[in-house]
Amino acid sequence: MSNSPSIFSRIVAREIPADIVFESDTIIAFRDIAPKAPVHVLVVPKTEQYSNVTELAAGDPALLAELVATAQQLADEQCGGQFRLIFNTGENAGQTVFHVHAHVLGGTLTEGSLGF
Ligand code: 5GP
Repeated sequence: MSNSPSIFSRIVAREIPADIVFESDTIIAFRDIAPKAPVHVLVVPKTEQYSNVTELAAGDPALLAELVATAQQLADEQCGGQFRLIFNTGENAGQTVFHVHAHVLGGTLTEGSLGF
């Protein structure tokens, strides 16, 4: 596991460019650099205190609820309100960035949109 700041914190700080589609005081959302579906947005709490969804649920359930509501809002805007929400949790599950984030996948999904 790497030290701070995570790559996503660097996007929050505008040190790395990203196609940002939503931002609030607590959450940022931007398009995945390697999309697996017609709509593939990452929804990320700005804090990097939580490395995965289990930690976020235990530590700040209100922030997790806000993240899910943001995913729904983005899906409403971009793909008719229907979406797949993925939290990879752990290296063996395909997690590569240990700053909790949700993948919002929408549009016409294929089997390849399920795994990373
Ligand atoms: P994980 O594999 O941890 O669930 O998801 C990390 C995601 O972050 C991957 O889908 C990967 O394509 C995306 N990603 C990694 N680096 C960057 C970046 O610099 N910019 C953007 N927009 N996405 C990134």
